[in-house]
Amino acid sequence: GASYGANVTYDQHTETNPWSGEAFSGKYHDILKKRTKLPVYLFRDKLLKTVRENQIVVIEGETGSGKTTQIPQFLVEDGYPTLGSTCVACTQPRRVAATSIASRVADEMDVKLGAEVGYTIRFEDESSDRTVLKFMTDGMLLREAMSDPLLKRYKAICLDEAHERTLATDVLMGLLQEVIPKRPDLKLIVMSATLDAKKFQDYFKGAPLMKVPGRTHPVEIFYTAQPERNYVEAAIRTTLQIHQCESPGDILVFLTGEAEIEDCCRQLRDSAATFPSNVGELVVYPLYSSLPPAAQRKIFSQAPGPRVAGGVPGRKVVVSTNIAETSLTIDGIVYVVDPGFSKQKIFNPRARVESLLVSPISQASAKQRSGRAGRTQPGKCFRLYTELSFKNDLQQATYPEILRSKMSSVVLTLKKLGIDDLVHFDFLDPPAPETLMRALELLNYHGALDDEGDMTEVGYKMAEMPLDPQMAKLLLVSPDYSCSNEILSIVACLSVPAIFMRPKEQAKLADDAKAQFAVDDSDHCTLLNAYNEYLFNNKSRDYCWDNFLNERSLNQADNVRNQLVRIMQKLDLPLTSNDRKSSRYYTAVKQTLTGAMFMQVAYLQRSGVYMTIKDNQSVSLHPSTDVNGKPQWVVYEEFVLTSKNYIRTVTVTNADWLVASAPHYYDLTNFPECEAKGEIEQAYRRMAQRASK
Ligand code: ADP
Ligand code: MG
Repeated sequence: GASYGANVTYDQHTETNPWSGEAFSGKYHDILKKRTKLPVYLFRDKLLKTVRENQIVVIEGETGSGKTTQIPQFLVEDGYPTLGSTCVACTQPRRVAATSIASRVADEMDVKLGAEVGYTIRFEDESSDRTVLKFMTDGMLLREAMSDPLLKRYKAICLDEAHERTLATDVLMGLLQEVIPKRPDLKLIVMSATLDAKKFQDYFKGAPLMKVPGRTHPVEIFYTAQPERNYVEAAIRTTLQIHQCESPGDILVFLTGEAEIEDCCRQLRDSAATFPSNVGELVVYPLYSSLPPAAQRKIFSQAPGPRVAGGVPGRKVVVSTNIAETSLTIDGIVYVVDPGFSKQKIFNPRARVESLLVSPISQASAKQRSGRAGRTQPGKCFRLYTELSFKNDLQQATYPEILRSKMSSVVLTLKKLGIDDLVHFDFLDPPAPETLMRALELLNYHGALDDEGDMTEVGYKMAEMPLDPQMAKLLLVSPDYSCSNEILSIVACLSVPAIFMRPKEQAKLADDAKAQFAVDDSDHCTLLNAYNEYLFNNKSRDYCWDNFLNERSLNQADNVRNQLVRIMQKLDLPLTSNDRKSSRYYTAVKQTLTGAMFMQVAYLQRSGVYMTIKDNQSVSLHPSTDVNGKPQWVVYEEFVLTSKNYIRTVTVTNADWLVASAPHYYDLTNFPECEAKGEIEQAYRRMAQRASK
């Protein structure tokens, strides 16, 4: 076997776990039997030979062929990492995929998760010095590059799900183009489902392309005759029909987000409960990113057997976001229900607005989705749209995220990495110049880049924080108003899934519970209050339950906050608070929010509609706000695009604070004509009068 650094050797047919020195468990042998049947297994030797002979290899393989779980292990077995110093990385666009696959691979290698096999996602590091195989989000590897520019910790990097073309993966590819010549001992394996692999090969000039043939079965596709008005209802109806009429096999339903998925699961369970006993049992599992890990694992459990001996077997339904499109493979799926939508990031550089929007999927996505039905036997895919719509309305492939994203965070990262010439950076698809300009402009307004475009002290500090630049700015400004402790709590709450729960059937009770924490002119302060009360009640589960607070989110927020505190200390930023009983307590927070979020401000027009400053977008306060009435000026956290434009999580501010904290942005010499301009002018006059007194 190959030598693993100092003391570990591996032999494919050994009975002894090379990491622990103990005999392999029964579970190991059970899984090994399944692993050896995966299509990539036949490719092991050829693949390893190709990797030995080439620095970059592109691998294209059907989803479910075993790329993600097996190929990184092969590299470990071939001796790339050295225990205690280097490791193999495998990047994933999604957090859930990184954690779920790491846990699976730890089982496959018969080691404890967090030891030899680990994962790193933002704010969560389950890895150690012993880690030789690390699954991580692409964003985390990019972040690591900032402190380890040549990525010396890694001997091999698998960029997985490259076909997804996430922003971070695209940037990593560009970065690795520069790192590879400087690191002759580093291997790069670009892994992709069967799309676009040729494009990657061209990009990494001369890299061999290996194809892993998948074992797929035919999938029969059905379309609806008419467009569906309500795709969730249609999905439920179709699923129940499959359950009642089709032969055994599990069902995968694609929806767009948590609320929709939970709602669908509830309705499916309710309807299934009314079925006569000659219909098999139906178990329903949701899958989305904020689901706790234990609940996520359930999707892999076996469908229930028949209710009585010889009866109809039960069926499993997984209702999932895009995660199940290519990232995670669930065995046993025979039926796919595809309404044709997913949540996608869109960015409008002119309006400077980035938002998640439920949008039609692409033809390529639709094909991936239907492919999920043919993994183990011939399957069926029910597309809840017409064939004509598939052909005429769906675009061929999803645009790469880099063309749909706000680039401020990436530009800051690249600047930190010393890449100054963004225009000539070797992007697989270069972002629109206007988007880059917007990003540079934002970073300049926030003082992260000077007028020459060079990184400032503020910029370095911002880049140290694992946060969006504007969020980082909040922490940097907070000591000026001696409220860094309060802002830390708010930022932590904004970095985790929603802390307020609002189940549909208990909406009124949930709203009443939230009202106890509400601050009538700041949703940010409402978050702060809820977090404070959670601490005050000793993080009690009962307290959270009784008050419709999401304990898991608050717990995560607590953890995030601790990590941010350490970063603040490292950067010598003072941790300070105002007295909770003084009026300064909330005012200081509101001033900090104004000082950092001066580019996300809306002004109430005489018509009663809010308009965003400089970008002139009409918006409304999101119904979830606890801010009373219609204040004249608000800063907002998030722009939500639905049938209407909403701003969510808002805090009241005023023209005096805005001009005092951001005169360079509220510069009258180039301020667009709008209703707000007059108030800005008055605020400057007041400021001048105060100065002359
Ligand atoms: P690919 O990356 O080529 O799409 P994967 O390596 O993700 O393929 O999947 C290979 C196999 O491993 C699939 O059959 C999948 O069902 C199985 N698998 C992955 N994770 C788990 C898990 N947590 N539990 C059970 N099986 C799993
Ligand atoms: Mg995979």
